Amino acid sequence: MKKWQDKEEFKKLFTEKAHILWEKDLRDMTLNEVYQTIAYMIRDLVSEDWIRTNEIYAEQKVKQVYYFSIEFLIGRLLESNLLGIDMDDICRQGLEDLGWDLDKVIPAERDPGLGNGGLGRLAACFIDSLAALQLPGHGNSIRYQYGLFNQRIVDNQQVELPDNWLVNGYPWEVKKVDKAVYVRFGGNAYMRPDEDGSLECVHEKYSSVRAVPYDVPIIGYHNNTVNTLRLWRAEYSREQLYQELSLGDRRRAFRYKDSVQQISRFLYPDDSNEDGRRLRLMQEYFFVSAGLQSIVRHYKKKYHESIYKFDRYVAIHINDTHPALVIPELMRILMDEEGVSWDAAWNITVRTVAYTNHTILPEAMEKWSIPMFKELLPRIYLIVEEINNRWLKEVRSLYPGDESRARDVAVLWDGQVHMAHLAVLGSHSVNGVAEIHSQILKDSTLHQFYTCFPHRFSNKTNGISHRRWLIEANPQLASLIDEAIGDGWRRTPSKLQDLMPFADDPSFQEQLTRVKKERKDILARYIRDRYDTDVRTDSIFDIQIKRIHLYKRQTLNILHILHLYYLLKDNPKLKITPRTFLFGGKAAAGYGEAKETIRLINVVAHMVNSDRRISKQMKVLFLENYNVSLGQLLFPAADVSEQISTAGKEASGTGNMKFMMNGAITLGTLDGANVEIHRKVGDENCVIFGLRADEVMNYYIHGGYSSWQMYSGDADIRRLMDALVDGSISGEHFGMLYSSFLDKNDEYFVLKDFKSYCQAQQEIAKRYGNHPQWCHSSVVNIAQSGYFSSDRTIQQYADDIWRIKPVKH
Ligand SMILES: *Cc1c(COP(=O)(O)O)cnc(C)c1O
Repeated sequence: MKKWQDKEEFKKLFTEKAHILWEKDLRDMTLNEVYQTIAYMIRDLVSEDWIRTNEIYAEQKVKQVYYFSIEFLIGRLLESNLLGIDMDDICRQGLEDLGWDLDKVIPAERDPGLGNGGLGRLAACFIDSLAALQLPGHGNSIRYQYGLFNQRIVDNQQVELPDNWLVNGYPWEVKKVDKAVYVRFGGNAYMRPDEDGSLECVHEKYSSVRAVPYDVPIIGYHNNTVNTLRLWRAEYSREQLYQELSLGDRRRAFRYKDSVQQISRFLYPDDSNEDGRRLRLMQEYFFVSAGLQSIVRHYKKKYHESIYKFDRYVAIHINDTHPALVIPELMRILMDEEGVSWDAAWNITVRTVAYTNHTILPEAMEKWSIPMFKELLPRIYLIVEEINNRWLKEVRSLYPGDESRARDVAVLWDGQVHMAHLAVLGSHSVNGVAEIHSQILKDSTLHQFYTCFPHRFSNKTNGISHRRWLIEANPQLASLIDEAIGDGWRRTPSKLQDLMPFADDPSFQEQLTRVKKERKDILARYIRDRYDTDVRTDSIFDIQIKRIHLYKRQTLNILHILHLYYLLKDNPKLKITPRTFLFGGKAAAGYGEAKETIRLINVVAHMVNSDRRISKQMKVLFLENYNVSLGQLLFPAADVSEQISTAGKEASGTGNMKFMMNGAITLGTLDGANVEIHRKVGDENCVIFGLRADEVMNYYIHGGYSSWQMYSGDADIRRLMDALVDGSISGEHFGMLYSSFLDKNDEYFVLKDFKSYCQAQQEIAKRYGNHPQWCHSSVVNIAQSGYFSSDRTIQQYADDIWRIKPVKH
């Protein structure tokens, strides 16, 4: 790894680079130009290693993994790359001499919003860990011109603004024109006998889209590995445009051009419901086909091995079902382009592909209408149809006359393509993302598949990059940990365990208190600057940040806040532990209840904060535009981590792990990875409440829950529900939420869990009052969080699924 020797060398190189890039006096540079200059300097440092990493993989012919994900929520890269190459101090000092503060330069980088939330952030943590562990693994996705919308709150409501993140250019990417490929849409596909009588596929009258890769280096941590995140951009094919024009139909030609440019224009702002369906399907096939073509081309060019050995050298992972077309697309390439037979192609495909399931919410299961699928992807449809026919024939011969079996496992059923079924059938490995979630997959969601292929199923509990979420986000805590146990945990996060003996150490507790206070001060400053509001840093910072969704139950949190408000109103002498309740999160643009939840939070916040007496004891704030960068400010400042989804609904969660690693106490249900957090830290160091997943399941199956009964049987709940519709909350009305709680029988058991949640909140207050006990819990959480590093997760994927090994150099 090349390095800057000292700050003098940094300053010299910076000055040279800045002159070439901007042609102006250093003093006139904007912060964005300073950031870009350093980014290009970092690229200069790593470019040899980037090339070298790829050469070594090819020379040693190691097996490589390609992580296909329709989202990569990578966050800003300047600071993480500086930390990765261990050049942050030199850069900081050099900049200071030149008159800039690195901490002011870092925010000049736009946070690429190429993801919605947890799923995209997971993919980003995974490629970070792959590079840190020197594993040969790369990301494959789409270079959206517009990322997830920017959120503003206007009149208490969410407003979505376009995220034109590429306006100033993106210095980390390298366009690789020579590696472009073509992806086919539409036309007709049919089988016909060739000369020797076997069938071959004809695909004609299709439309070609040019896919151009933009590569982003993924820099390892203090090693020489530089892997690649390959993002594809759709361009029209000039050849096809001219051909259309030459046929004289200008309108058709321009329609072609427009529709192609749409493909990589927007990220779909929804990670649980699908809309804009046709374009979304085009996006999925686009990055899958482009990615696979480039992998196969690279394999043939560099590995000089038979195509029949493809799966020995290539693993492809699909992050949820959005890339599941990898399965028929690999079949297509193997059969139509490499001349492999169906059976051999199927074996290669299944051995290559592995699938991670991310959700069991029925509305989030991806399905496509067959007519649309067929029209858009005629050749792929023929293959999917054949996969389905062969599979159902097998199933029906095993269970003759039992059509329910066929229905439960069919890829094509009721006019729809069932993507999860395609993914399970075409993969050698299927995993859930937390123990409870993987169990639910085996027991119910994919039960029939589990009985057919029990050996395919496993669990890989999610993780987070401790580099980004501890070392980078919370340098104060990171240094404190170094002082106590040395810095070995930075490479080996399981060593955080060594903090256990410090849990009751008064001096360590004091230091930890100081660090937490400093992080709360930093956040309080941000809140004062942005929202002109003062928050007490001696109050409990109780934070819920995540996408807004009924199942995540921000409503439960805000109803409890309203309940506290009434208590304080009714009893003017009542003293509660002071609290600052913070919310953040985006609602999908078309998700009415989620947007109403945001409005309710903001209206309640104003009512609470503008009451002079009550706002001394509690404040409520909704922070706009939650993204990775805002998260890096919030997780370190939290005392309490709100993880209150309806049990059985949150597959894993990863926000819970970021809070834990920063010493916050989990207030949560036994859902997703909360179950494992609870097991690691014990009842004494987290607060668990509410229905269990099996109890929720029981109600769904057998009935027996009536939210109207909750309403009539409990005066507190009645008052809260009435307040939603009687105008007593600042004259505002929340009929949609009222009706989801009562008329729709409270699908997510908010009212059912309400009392239990109030008690849990009281327990939190009680524990916070005992400072040494609270510190003890905080230390235990940090100490036990090493398990939730994505390094552990990725090691398990590498050993159990991908069978890949580190490449040291
Ligand atoms: C971690 C993270 C998420 C996922 O949070 P959950 O609480 O697990 O839903 C979503 N968005 C951002 C920006 C994140 O950093």
